[in-house]
Amino acid sequence: MTDMVTYELEDGIAVITVANPPVNALGHAVRKGLWDAIDRFNAEPEAKAALILGAGKIFLGGADISEFGKPPKDPWLPEVCNHIEAATKPVVCAIQGAALGGGLEVALGCHYRVALKGAKLGLPEVNLGIIPGAGGTQRTPRVIGVKAALEIIPAGGTVSAERAVEMGLADRLATGDPRAAGLAFAQELVAEGAAPRPVGQMPCPDHDAEALAEARALWSKKNRGEVARLASIDAVEAATRLEIMPGLEEERRIFSEMMDTPQRAGLIHAFFIERKTAKIPEIAGVDPRPVARIGVIGGGTMGAGIATAALTRGLDVTLIERDDASADKARATIAKNLDGAVKRGKLGAAQKDAILSDTFRTATGYDALSDSDLAIEAVFEDMDVKKAVFAELDRVMKPGAILATNTSYLDVNEIAASTSRPADVIGLHFFSPAHVMKLLEVVVADKTANDVTATAFALAKTLGKTAVRAGVCDGFIGNRILAKYRAAADRMVLQGASPYQVDRAIKAFGWPMGPYEMGDLAGLDIGYMTRKRKAATRDPRDIVPSWADALYDLGRLGQKTGRGYYIYEEGTRGGKEDPEVEELVAKARAEAGIDPRDFTDDEIQRRYMAALVNEAADVVEEGIAHRPLDVDVTFLYGYGFPRFRGGPMHWADHVGLAGLLSDIEDYAQEDDFFWQPSALLKRLVQDNATFASLNDKG
Ligand code: NAD
Repeated sequence: MTDMVTYELEDGIAVITVANPPVNALGHAVRKGLWDAIDRFNAEPEAKAALILGAGKIFLGGADISEFGKPPKDPWLPEVCNHIEAATKPVVCAIQGAALGGGLEVALGCHYRVALKGAKLGLPEVNLGIIPGAGGTQRTPRVIGVKAALEIIPAGGTVSAERAVEMGLADRLATGDPRAAGLAFAQELVAEGAAPRPVGQMPCPDHDAEALAEARALWSKKNRGEVARLASIDAVEAATRLEIMPGLEEERRIFSEMMDTPQRAGLIHAFFIERKTAKIPEIAGVDPRPVARIGVIGGGTMGAGIATAALTRGLDVTLIERDDASADKARATIAKNLDGAVKRGKLGAAQKDAILSDTFRTATGYDALSDSDLAIEAVFEDMDVKKAVFAELDRVMKPGAILATNTSYLDVNEIAASTSRPADVIGLHFFSPAHVMKLLEVVVADKTANDVTATAFALAKTLGKTAVRAGVCDGFIGNRILAKYRAAADRMVLQGASPYQVDRAIKAFGWPMGPYEMGDLAGLDIGYMTRKRKAATRDPRDIVPSWADALYDLGRLGQKTGRGYYIYEEGTRGGKEDPEVEELVAKARAEAGIDPRDFTDDEIQRRYMAALVNEAADVVEEGIAHRPLDVDVTFLYGYGFPRFRGGPMHWADHVGLAGLLSDIEDYAQEDDFFWQPSALLKRLVQDNATFASLNDKG
């Protein structure tokens, strides 16, 4: 045994307890301890059955991530699971809190399983680009069948204790103390003279062709381009034809193959960086201001979403609208959002009623915000309208309250300067739909107080969102970079690519949507308004997509009008390509005197990504983003960047910055206004360094 695993005999039951706080991860000392404990149990005639427990709040965690990439030390987890399974007397485990990844694989190595209410069981490995590697893919389908195993493994999600029992993944449900529940089960088994029940000796599960095909179709669509989810399905399928030992070998072969993919590196990067965005020097050790009551001004698309997010997380919300009719409309939207939360099991029906009657109210006058701790403005994107709102907020809000704007582009310094308390003003840029999207850009203005920034990060946590610090510029981190790669797409269209080819190529890269589909979804009026806003300051060398203006003039604003770049017919999903759009584009090319040329999908992806990364490098260089990882998180959580690529900056490091720079320099030969290599990119290439080297900045 080791310090982390104890063995005691209680009424003929060997109680083996793992204590490796905080999550009982399966590091080497734990694996060795379990191995030795099973040896002792086998050798001790007084021990009639064994019970494996995890001390503390959770049963067993997964693999010890700190051992990733290091040479494995015996015994490996797969061997430990086999060793437990081979015990000569029954082995029971009692699962409280969580059995995830390796934790569940150990549980499946046991002969019998009790799950305590509230426990979550799952195999999340695919989320990190690998597959379960200690028998999870072979034992799970033997216990619950192929169809149910496919509900768990490629999804990388968890199931509740209740569902686990329903599926047969656990034998019984219990409440209270895991030790007592496990001992009771073990004693019953001893009294019945129950034999060990090794999962590996169970027959191969039936080959469920339909379930396998369904899972493959689902995961190739849902997480397009990701290899591990599909590979996990292959591993489950292997269980239907291979005995346990060759099955485990096949699992190991696939596991090792996944360990070497760039996707695994990307997914691990994505996993770790999310935890780092709140580590910024200006808020280290700074106490946030308390926030319990918030005001939301404007109850349109964003305001209603923000209010929903806050209400479902227990905050008190007062929403201000222009008139009663708009307030009622906002209330109806929020009620509908809350209904959705009830349907998805995120909120109880009674809780919803209580929110609508007690913690949520609407008003048309600002005095209703006099006791709010924080207000978030989400009115029209117009500086004068916003300034008028901030004048009111400045008038009514109590000292120390925070005044936030959800503006997408406007100058937060200018808004702050229009109040008498610029230190209390900050940008809180939510993404649509605000009650769903995880990203919150915290836009720190020149005079924003540090404890206001700290409060924004604390609020994000309350709302279940990931906050990224951004500086003030047109579009902050995300929308500024978006504007650049959108413009790169328009340039390619003008030169000869069709918008549909661009969308297809971008989706083939792994983005959920291409730029033109995205435009249709958001509404083509948004781009039009932005072009209008920027018209006065536009450089004459910049190009304007005149076909997009033509679509606007025709009232084709995208999905909401049934027609934009695509034609949306009722009852059909997605849009149909529109030859009239191609005609409008052809006209724009003719007017610009451009002889259209062909683009390969590869070139489209390269130019799109080069524009993104180059602008992102400027954003980091200017301090708008604190580190490259902040750009990565912004794109993963706000723009649907394919997670398996880790984020655009991680992707850039992976493909090589020198190659990217050389592409940009080539593009600059034809257009040195649009393509100006970023100084940071040039410096990194010169120093043979990576974006990752800048991520350690606190
Ligand atoms: P919207 O038009 O859907 O809603 C604006 C709401 O504000 C309307 O309900 C309107 O009645 C109300 N309003 C206008 N003036 C008001 C005033 N003086 N007092 C009270 N209420 C007033 O707009 P939206 O899409 O929700 O955008 C709101 C803000 O959020 C804008 O600044 C926008 O740039 C930003 N934003 C939008 C998105 C998006 O995807 N829609 C994403 C992020 C940020």
